[in-house]
Amino acid sequence: MEIQELNKEIRTRSFEKMKTRSPKQLTTSWYQDDLLYSGVGKNIFIIIPTIGCSWALGDSGGCTMCSYISDSFLEPVDADEIFKLFVNEFEKYDLTENIGVKIFASGSFLNPIEVPVIARDKILRYLSQKEYVTEVIVESRPEYIKEDVLKDVFSHLGDKLFEVSIGLETSNDFTREEKINKGFSKEDFEKSVKIIKSLKNSYNINSKAYILVKPILTNENEAIEEAIETSKYCEKIGVDRISFTPTTIHKGTLVEQLWKRGSYQPSWIWSVVEIINETRKNISIPSFMDTSGFGSRRGPYNCKKCNKILKNVIIESNLKQSLIEDIDCECKLHWIADKKSSNLNYSKTRIKHLPLI
Ligand code: SF4
Ligand SMILES: [Zn+2]
Repeated sequence: MEIQELNKEIRTRSFEKMKTRSPKQLTTSWYQDDLLYSGVGKNIFIIIPTIGCSWALGDSGGCTMCSYISDSFLEPVDADEIFKLFVNEFEKYDLTENIGVKIFASGSFLNPIEVPVIARDKILRYLSQKEYVTEVIVESRPEYIKEDVLKDVFSHLGDKLFEVSIGLETSNDFTREEKINKGFSKEDFEKSVKIIKSLKNSYNINSKAYILVKPILTNENEAIEEAIETSKYCEKIGVDRISFTPTTIHKGTLVEQLWKRGSYQPSWIWSVVEIINETRKNISIPSFMDTSGFGSRRGPYNCKKCNKILKNVIIESNLKQSLIEDIDCECKLHWIADKKSSNLNYSKTRIKHLPLI
């Protein structure tokens, strides 16, 4: 498959340029307002060092928009070291209220190759003893979401809430496979959600789906429609929450190559507003819009006058789960024109055969 080969080639070249950082340097954390399952509160985000996402390290080269692998150690990291670094970060915060803890493994927390089982169990046991921690959120590809693994998680975590976030990206199989190079099907995703649902009677477990806004080779209109469609699909199959992640240009990715050649542009922020409003009108599960990179050269962009205002309004609406009121700016007309002309020079050539470089 051309996309996979190209992706692998770009990934290999970026590995060669990568500066190695120690597990300690790769570990970081921050604290921010979020909508917890118990209401508005704070989440601590902790990035733990790992060997890196198995999908990106393998022959596929990983997903076309993701460079998390460059935040990884690329060699196995000792379980005790992962745990120690996690605790160091966690202890930087003086807790006085209920919080959630989001653990980012730059890949799949439930993959024992990336996060050794000993490290995983120790982290979960440690968090189970923290009075103020009410929920723990991790990310995983579907292939690692297994009933016995989840039961093991709860044997350490106890009755705290555990959310597994899965990067579905889109309900469109062609887009996921050919444009994102995700390497799993809708059936794989549905199987994982089914396992999580089946455990709900006995455990405090929830699922979340990440939805990518505007994959490569997708115009503004398609990006909006596909994201809204995917949110409806997620609710239908019983996902508990969804989170939209508009594409930003990560270094060393296929997306970056296309962007540098003028063949890709992240979405307008107006498109993102339309997606979030339509989603909240149509479905009832909580929906979130990640605003990372908004208003920057490599992220969703409107114009200098309204980028920041809209970013703040979206952050606020995530906490309240509210609709975004009609806001005006001169640049809105350009967005409307862009949407209307999206399909004018649309090629009917199958994406597989487009000369990408
Ligand atoms: S998006 Fe997830 S699965 Fe894809 S390469 Fe990045 S970390 Fe791996
Ligand atoms: Zn504007």
